Formats: sequence, structure tokens, C-alpha cells
Amino acid sequence: MIAVTILGNNSAIPAYDRHPTAQVVTVNDNMFLVDCGEGTQMQLSRYRIRRSRISHIFISHLHGDHYYGLAGLINSFGLWGREHDLHLYGPEMLKEIIDLQMKAGGVQLPFKLIFHVLGEDGVLVDLKRTEVSCFKVQHRVACWGFLFREKRNPRKLDMDNILAAGIPSSYYEKLQQGEDYTHKDGTIVKNESVTHAAPKGKSYAFCADTIYDESLAGKVKGVDMIYHETTYLHNLEERAASRFHSTTLQAGQIAKLAGAEKLLIGHFSSKYEKLDAFLEETASVFPNVELALEGVTYTA
Ligand SMILES: [Zn+2]
Ligand SMILES: [Zn+2]
Repeated sequence: MIAVTILGNNSAIPAYDRHPTAQVVTVNDNMFLVDCGEGTQMQLSRYRIRRSRISHIFISHLHGDHYYGLAGLINSFGLWGREHDLHLYGPEMLKEIIDLQMKAGGVQLPFKLIFHVLGEDGVLVDLKRTEVSCFKVQHRVACWGFLFREKRNPRKLDMDNILAAGIPSSYYEKLQQGEDYTHKDGTIVKNESVTHAAPKGKSYAFCADTIYDESLAGKVKGVDMIYHETTYLHNLEERAASRFHSTTLQAGQIAKLAGAEKLLIGHFSSKYEKLDAFLEETASVFPNVELALEGVTYTA
């Protein structure tokens, strides 16, 4: 299961008690932070998230509403006595920014902060049951989205059939990986006859800040849940394009083209107090849509 807890859903400026972008993505035993707008550590406390479990932080781009909370959070990790490694993924200049902020304050972190520069599309993190990759999106500055995937679970053993076929227990792991078994006399036991397929792993794509770009749908094809920004309502389509942002109908269209199961929308402009129209407009294109509301956890 993949769970996404929204900590911030606003764009640019905090408004109407909405915070700039941040979300916690939990995949199996792994907890990731995606973007870290101002106020993120306060939001982590408010929603009682065990921040020490965060192992990797991904920063999509260097507009302030996506990372101005990062230096504060890293500093606090030090004060809370964190000892285990923290992996940070972001655009190249982020390392310089954080290093300077730590240096200026004479901060000596008690844990290892390992910085990874985002580049070409591809896998960033490959853990036992979870994989995270990045993909470029079209924005005013270099910007990346992130794709979280549960790896395929091992096949389930059908013990009755396995015992009847006389397969030794030393071979069970290979059966779980889908291999056939060959007896000494050359007869083959087909894998499907002694195992059952495990449920498919879930996936979640965070598409960051982006202009309407149909090629994005190809990068996140068949994803279970997609987060796409809707900075503006449909009537401000021109403004959205000029600022490299998207509208409600455009987010719905990308989710549809991607063949996603569920769409989450966020990054609302601070010019809007009420969000109902975002939901209504997007649902006219893609019915299975939800507003990304702070403090709420959505599952894929
Ligand atoms: Zn933004
Ligand atoms: Zn931006």
C-alpha cells in the first residue's frame, strides 16, 4: 500500500491556513518527504508524523514554496539527536544553499547528510520492496516529478500442489520468483501449477509544478494515483500557461491520458479562498478526483 499525507497544498504564498507544498509518502516500511515548503516541520508535529522515520527527502525544484522549510528541518533533525543517514535529492544548487546555511550558523550535524543531484529520468532509490524514480517536467526552472512504486510481491506458494509434485523446500524461493521446477527424470512442473500470482504493487506519481504537457502522461502511464497541480481554474488557462502552471481541466486530462486510477489535485493559487470549484471542474474530465487537503492521508 502507498499512503500520501498532505502537509501543504498551496502555491507561492501561504493563505487561508494553507501551507506551501510538502507531502509525506509512505511505501511499505519506508517514509519519504516530498518537497519541504515553509512550515513543514510545524505540520509534521501538528499531524503527529514520526519525523525520525523519514529516510529520504526529494525536492522537486528551487522555487521557494517547495524548499524554504528545508534548512529548518535539517537543523532540527540535528537538535533532535538524529544519528542515522538522511538522503537528500534535489537540483544541483541545493547542496550549496544548504551547506552555506549550515556553515553560517556553525551547525555540526550529528548525522550524515548525503546529497544526490537530480539529472536524467531514472531510478533514484532501489530498496527491497520500494523503488523511487524521477522524471523531468516542464516548468520555469529545472523541475522533477517523482514516481513511487511498490515492487512486485513474491508469488504465493500452493503447498498442496507443491507437496503433491514432490518439490524440495530448498527450491521454494525460486518458485516464488516464478521459476519452473525440473525433476531428475526431466519432467517439468510449470510454475503456474504450484503458485498463485501476488497482487500487483501500487504506484504513485507526484508531478510537481508543470505546464500542461501531454508527454508527462507517458512518463506515468498506468499509475494508481497521480498528484497533478491545479494552480488555477479553467478560466485562467492563459495565465497558467504563461507561468508554466496548469488548470483543473488540464490536470484531469493528464490523469485520463495516463490511465490513472485516482487523481489528487493541489498547489492552489492563494487568490482562491474556496476550493469547491477546483473539484467540480476537474471531475468534469476525470471523475475519480480528490482535493489534496492538509492533514488528510490518501491511499493508492
Ligand atoms: Zn510552486
Ligand atoms: Zn514552481
